[in-house]
Amino acid sequence: MARDCFFCKLVTNRALAPHWIAESAGALALLSPDPASQGHTVIVPKRHSSDLSTVPGSDWIAINQLTLRVVKLLRSTLGGRGEYLYCGSWVTRGRKFPHLHVHVVPRGRHLSRKSEVWWTPPPEGTASRAELVELARRIRARTRPVRPRRLGHRA
Ligand SMILES: [Zn+2]
Repeated sequence: MARDCFFCKLVTNRALAPHWIAESAGALALLSPDPASQGHTVIVPKRHSSDLSTVPGSDWIAINQLTLRVVKLLRSTLGGRGEYLYCGSWVTRGRKFPHLHVHVVPRGRHLSRKSEVWWTPPPEGTASRAELVELARRIRARTRPVRPRRLGHRA
């Protein structure tokens, strides 16, 4: 865990993340509190990595496997037929969220059509905490329990 990392805090203290929707041994999926469309989800590795140049391969695989599961959950819950994936991978001083993450943005009627400003919150504003918690509960209700595995390498 990196000190002062927002996502590391969410991974280790689930009370801070009632809007989580799915997890695996190596990754966690959370609804975005500032969604570009309903169901906009951010997937993070449970171990801190700042970008693709430093992420362990097993964590990158965990992110991608959870991404596939999230896409199926969102489609079955919200009825969408497509999504955008976005991964910001860079290291600069002052980066707001310096923890590698992948966005899954369901295509929606409120999504901006301009690719340069794809993340434009819908006109009605950002989601309230109560909306996020309720939507997360609906999505989680569709998941089967996952038996947690310990992080780390086997000898
Ligand atoms: Zn972190």
